[in-house]
Amino acid sequence: MFPFSFTKPADTGAALAAGRRGGRYIAGGTTLVDLMRETVERPGALVDISALPLREITVTPRGGLRIGALVRMADAAANPKVRSLFPVIAQALELSASAQLRNMATIGGNVMQRTRCSYFRDVTAACNKRTPGSGCAALAGFNRTHAILGTSDQCVATHPSDVAVAFTALEATVHLLGPDGPREVAFADFLLRPGRTPDREQALRPGELITAVEIPALPLPLRSGYLKVRDRQSYEFALTSAAVALHVRGGVIQLARVAAGGVGTVPWRLPAVERSLAGQRPSPELWARAAARAADGAQPLTHNAFKADLLIRTVERQLRIVGGTA
Ligand code: SF4
Repeated sequence: MFPFSFTKPADTGAALAAGRRGGRYIAGGTTLVDLMRETVERPGALVDISALPLREITVTPRGGLRIGALVRMADAAANPKVRSLFPVIAQALELSASAQLRNMATIGGNVMQRTRCSYFRDVTAACNKRTPGSGCAALAGFNRTHAILGTSDQCVATHPSDVAVAFTALEATVHLLGPDGPREVAFADFLLRPGRTPDREQALRPGELITAVEIPALPLPLRSGYLKVRDRQSYEFALTSAAVALHVRGGVIQLARVAAGGVGTVPWRLPAVERSLAGQRPSPELWARAAARAADGAQPLTHNAFKADLLIRTVERQLRIVGGTA
C-alpha cells in the first residue's frame, strides 16, 4: 500500500471543503479500496462521506422517486416505494454483485464504479483509461466482455452498473453538490463515452459529489423489469441486459422505455426499439420486430460478435416478460 490521509467529515460543508482540496470521496468502499490495493488508483486523501444525511428515499410531490446517494443497494432494492413504483430498479439492484456487497455499496458509488476491464485492473497492461496515452490492450487482446456500442479507438470498456441501465431507461436526473452549489444533470449526460478521453468518466466538476438520483413520475400503470444475461447466475457482470418500462392503456403502448447494459461504454438507450413499440398493440410479433433494432450501430470486436445477437434476444425476452401479449 501507499500513504494516504483519511478524514470523515460530520457535515456536508466540511466534506465539500475536503473535496475541493483534492480529496477522493468514499462511502461503501467496495470499488475504490479494491483499486487502491491493486495500485490502479493512488489517491492522496480519502474523504469518508458516510456520515452525511443522504440516506432517504422519498416520493416527490409529482409522484417520482428521489433516492439519496448514500442509500445502500440492498436497502433501495427492499424499499416498498421502489418496488411498487419502479420494479426495474429493485430487480437491477438484486441482480448486482453479491449480498455482502449490496449491504455495503451505495447508490452513488454504484453509479461511480469503474470498469471491470481486466486490463484496466492490471497495472502492467496498456490502458488509456488508467494511464492516458498508454494504449488499449483490449483492442488486440481478449475482448469477449467488452463493448459493441459507444466505443472509440481509445477504449472499448463497458460500464458495469446494472441500476444505471434502469436509471437511463427511466430518464433519471443526478443531483450534485459542489463548491458552486447544487446542480442537476440528466443521467444520460452524466456518464461519458470514452471518445478521446476515456479517463474522464463522469460529468463531475472538481469537488462535486452526488447527493441523490431522482426518477421522474411516469404515467401509471407502468410495468417495468430488468433482465440480466451472464456467464453464471450469481456475482457476475452482464454480458447483456435489458431494462424495460411500458405504459399500456386501451390495449395500446402509450410509452416505451428500453435501455441495455453489458454492451455499451455507457448504459445504452435503445430509441429505435422504443419507436417501434410506441402506438402499437402488444404481440409476440411486435416484441420480435422491435427487438430486432436493439443492436443498431453495433461494432463488434474480435471476440464479442455474439453480443449483438444476444442483445436482440435479451431485449425480445424482456419485452415479452414485461409486456406479455394482453
Ligand atoms: Fe483500458 Fe478501456 Fe482499453 Fe480496457 S478497454 S484496456 S479500460 S482503455
